[in-house]
Amino acid sequence: MPESARLEETELRLATRLVRGGVRRTGHQETSEGLFLTSGYVYASAEEAEAAFVTDGLRYVYSRFANPTVKIFEEKLRLVEGAEACRAVASGMAAVAAALLCQLRAGDRVVASRALFGSCWWIIAELLPRYGIATEFVAGENLDAWRAALAKPTKAVFVETPSNPTMTLVDLAELAKLTRAAGAALIVDNVFATPLLQRPLELGADIVVYSATKHIDGQGRCLGGAVLGSASFIDTVLGPYLRHTGPALSPFNAWTLLKGLETLDVRLERHNASALRLARFLEDHPRVRKVYYPFLDSHPQAALARRQMRAGGSIVSFEIKGGKAAAFRFLDALSLIDISNNLGDAKSLVTHPWTTTHARIAPEEKLAQGITEELVRLSVGLEDPEDLEADLGRALNA
Ligand SMILES: *Cc1c(COP(=O)(O)O)cnc(C)c1O
Repeated sequence: MPESARLEETELRLATRLVRGGVRRTGHQETSEGLFLTSGYVYASAEEAEAAFVTDGLRYVYSRFANPTVKIFEEKLRLVEGAEACRAVASGMAAVAAALLCQLRAGDRVVASRALFGSCWWIIAELLPRYGIATEFVAGENLDAWRAALAKPTKAVFVETPSNPTMTLVDLAELAKLTRAAGAALIVDNVFATPLLQRPLELGADIVVYSATKHIDGQGRCLGGAVLGSASFIDTVLGPYLRHTGPALSPFNAWTLLKGLETLDVRLERHNASALRLARFLEDHPRVRKVYYPFLDSHPQAALARRQMRAGGSIVSFEIKGGKAAAFRFLDALSLIDISNNLGDAKSLVTHPWTTTHARIAPEEKLAQGITEELVRLSVGLEDPEDLEADLGRALNA
């Protein structure tokens, strides 16, 4: 019996699954997981090769299809998410594109929340329509808007919650009911919350996608992504798409990411506590107009946040009084926190979404999503929060 099956049966807690899940040792009985940097595999006989091509999943055949190190990462994440199946891919965007394209065809219709990561927005607004797929965006927080949009035949629903960068939430339990009634598949981009803070499948979602580049790696080293869902979807719908289009995760990246999972729980504890503390500090600062953080009482969906999430996460967005000039002055005055468009790193990172991550989105659309020239996104890292607070205070007063 595979070790991972035993683990699932014992119902070990998530932090334990992060450390122990998916581990398969080779004959050397190594403590840390083996790194199989190999593209191919050999056969003892022509008959063995023939058999491998008759029955899928019998053994490793080619690393575009499967690889032992990638498999450990997939098993670990699957056990933590509580999903039937998981496939890892080369980046978060490969995961989003694959989760959508593997099940859509011309004539289908997709409904998505408006506040999305820039490239997810591009796939839904620009790419899908090229292939004859109709798409519509709705305000994610508005259940009546979802009801209206889902009255028309719909194949898939795509949401990100909390959203980047304005931390708008989608009520996943309610949306899952509406999506199910419409006969559509609900896909949740769970990057900001991670599997530890939000459980989309338990709330009724069908598919969860991750950029493992963010908190799962957590130290800014490797790109990666994953798609999780039912065994039938992953094996029969997503599987052939991945096998033949090839967005395979490098075994080296898989190894780095599975080591990242081992420490995810302890890192998130610090991320969450520091982010909440800094969100409160920013809210009290006279130069700050507004703070967006799900676990602040001032968040318009604070009650939903507490119901749906275990903590607020590592991202705090805020508006600095004085327009783009004030936002730029603040960024340039920081001495510890780095300017970067990335997030979910051990190092605290700050971004001006208007001019970087969301630069290609039309100004009217940005404003409709609540993104202003005053808005700054802070990814709170693992430094001592006192030092971070001091850096923010100095830069705000500059
Ligand atoms: C970063 C991110 C992605 C894309 O992930 P990559 O690994 O950069 O391809 C998708 N969705 C969200 C919410 C993200 O933050």
